[in-house]
Amino acid sequence: MAERPYIVGNWKMNGTRAMLTEARAIDRAAQRLMKVEVALAPPFTLIHAVHKEVEQIGVGAQDCHAAKDGAFTGDVSAAMVADAGAKFVILGHSERRQGHGESDALVAAKIGAALSAGLRVILCCGESLETRDAGRAEAFVLGQLRSAFAHVDDAAEKLTVAYEPIWAIGTGRTAGLDDIAAMHAAIRGLIGETFGEEAAGQVRILYGGSVKPENAREILALEDVDGALVGGASLTAENFLGIVHAAIGDDAV
Ligand code: PEP
Repeated sequence: MAERPYIVGNWKMNGTRAMLTEARAIDRAAQRLMKVEVALAPPFTLIHAVHKEVEQIGVGAQDCHAAKDGAFTGDVSAAMVADAGAKFVILGHSERRQGHGESDALVAAKIGAALSAGLRVILCCGESLETRDAGRAEAFVLGQLRSAFAHVDDAAEKLTVAYEPIWAIGTGRTAGLDDIAAMHAAIRGLIGETFGEEAAGQVRILYGGSVKPENAREILALEDVDGALVGGASLTAENFLGIVHAAIGDDAV
C-alpha cells in the first residue's frame, strides 16, 4: 500500500443538501487522520456546497464532458466542475461506460479535457464477469488503460487508477484477494512500461467493488492496493470512516 492511502467516496446519484452533514462529519474526522487522504465525489449539484463545507478532504466530480463548452444540453464541462470547487474527476466508471455507452476513445478524450482544465483524474477500469470467466480479464483491463493513457503526460502528478471489476460493484461481492493482487500488479507493470518506473511507484491504484468497513482492512493490506473507491459505503460517515480507519490499520471509528 502507498505511504498515504487514498480513500475516495463516490456518491453516484445520491444526495441532496441534507447529506452535507455526512460530508462535514467525514471532514472533521479526516482533520485528525493525516496519514490517509480522503475525498468525496458528490453529484454535480453538491460539488460547490461540499467544497464550501469542508476544510480537509478533497472534492471531485463523477464525470465531465469531453468538449470545452458548447451546445450540449444537460452536460457539464471540466472547467465548470473545476469552477464549482472540484479538484479531480472520476472518468471511465463502468456505470458511464455501460449506461451511457462511453467508449475507450471517449474516456480518453474526457481525460484530455479534464487535464487541460487542471483537474486530476481517477481513471476507472474493470472487466465483466463474462470476460473474467473467459480468462481475458487482464488483457481487457490493460487494453482499457492503454487507450486512456494516450492523453496523459504527467501520470505521477495527475493520475490515479481505480480497478473495479464490474461484477463486484454494488453487488456485495468482492473479487478474491489473489485476483485483486494480480490485477493491481499488472496495472502497475503497465504504468511502468508507459510512464517509467518512478511514475509506477507514484501513481496510486485503488480497488473498488463492494468495499465495506468489514472487508477493507484485508483488501487495503495488499501490496499494490493504494486505497479504495467506495460507492454504497460512502453514503454515511459511519461506514465511510470505518474504511478510512481500516486504511491506517485503526479499528476505532
Ligand atoms: C463504485 O461504483 O465505484 C463502487 C465501488 O461502488 P460500490 O462500493 O457500491 O460497489
